[in-house]
Amino acid sequence: MTHYDVIVAGLGGMGSAAAYQLARRGQRVLGLDQFAPVHNLGSSHGGSRITRQAYLEGPDYVPLLLRAHELWDEIERDTGREVFTRCGGLMVGQPDSQTVAGSRLSAEKFDIPHELLDAADVRRRFPTMVPLDDEVALYEPGAGFVSPEGSVAAHLQLAARFGAELHHEEQVFTWSTSESGVRVGTASSYYTASQLVLCPGAWAPCLLSGLGVEFEVQRQVQYWFRPSGDASAYAPSRQPVYLWETDEDTQFYGFPASAGQDVKVASHLGGTPCTAETIDRRVDESEIRRMAALAGSRLPTLPGEFRRAATCLYTNTPDEHFVLARHPDHPRAVVACGFSGHGFKFAPVVGEILADLVLDGSTPHPIALFDPARF
Ligand SMILES: Cc1cc2nc3c(=O)[nH]c(=O)nc-3n(C[C@H](O)[C@H](O)[C@H](O)COP(=O)(O)OP(=O)(O)OC[C@H]3O[C@@H](n4cnc5c(N)ncnc54)[C@H](O)[C@@H]3O)c2cc1C
Repeated sequence: MTHYDVIVAGLGGMGSAAAYQLARRGQRVLGLDQFAPVHNLGSSHGGSRITRQAYLEGPDYVPLLLRAHELWDEIERDTGREVFTRCGGLMVGQPDSQTVAGSRLSAEKFDIPHELLDAADVRRRFPTMVPLDDEVALYEPGAGFVSPEGSVAAHLQLAARFGAELHHEEQVFTWSTSESGVRVGTASSYYTASQLVLCPGAWAPCLLSGLGVEFEVQRQVQYWFRPSGDASAYAPSRQPVYLWETDEDTQFYGFPASAGQDVKVASHLGGTPCTAETIDRRVDESEIRRMAALAGSRLPTLPGEFRRAATCLYTNTPDEHFVLARHPDHPRAVVACGFSGHGFKFAPVVGEILADLVLDGSTPHPIALFDPARF
């Protein structure tokens, strides 16, 4: 039986990045995923994920985002794939909303290029967007979106290039660690390695039940509409990504048009609790009507014609900050999970951090916020 240096369980957004970073540093890596490469059953599908650095969720995240944007560029260079579209980003809401005030705090603390716009400025510069008179926005020119499918494919391609062995459609049923190593059992085999990296996404409640974190897995829906009127107004050269906080409990977000001219929009809050096994993948008429009404309240031409919808999974922690650390009870295991609906933009730097933790036992990146011992 081959003995590996590291086994990576879960090859989605985070695990594919970890497999690449570890293989690149000369580790003998085995990657395992229960599904085919770049599937649509977890959290990393739907064509687009917002990335931004003026981070409303807290300034502690900004150093990681500065590094993530460097790594997105590197991945594009090394694979020739276009992964990151820098179309700018708008954070819109009341001046004291978390969306506006939180991103302003991060932007000012870290000198992230940005502009503060009032409602009239927004209407003039971005004609698809019609804020209320008392809403304002922070515009971040370096923001944009990354392709989740493209990123996972690029990381898997790079991992394989550096010699990682990647097994898809092979589910991990059990794992254990001892003083001398780790042992992982799948439907077809047992594998041993010196260390284990666990990136199970919405399957964290199964693979990481002993971690002591109360995960809430949520069903979320991504919607695509064909706008009415001038479709070119939604082109990435004219339409930024945006997050719009319309009241304390409602934040929706959207993207420029994709190649087929359909425009994606979704709600960030109010997902339905579920599990990865039992999620209802159907999307009903009333959900579509609700999304159309919310988006249409600020972008009147957006919900022209409904095109399609797709469900996706969030894995929330109680405080919606990530879990990224050595496993408290298993010194040979490192975990990355609980990304709470905002993790994708960090994927390449999470891969780098996981490789640091495996190889050096620590990382120069600031990850104190993500310690599972906080719960
Ligand atoms: C609708 C939606 C919108 C989002 N928007 C944004 C956004 O705009 N910006 C942003 O930054 N983030 C966003 N996110 C969040 C982001 O996409 C996630 O945080 C990220 O994709 C999580 O990656 P992951 O690797 O943890 O999970 P996944 O990519 O789902 O990977 C987990 C992998 O583990 C595998 N696995 C699990 N259990 C096993 C097992 N037992 N054996 C083998 N394999 C296993 C799964 O098959 C899967 O491939 C969004 C998420 C959703 C759902």
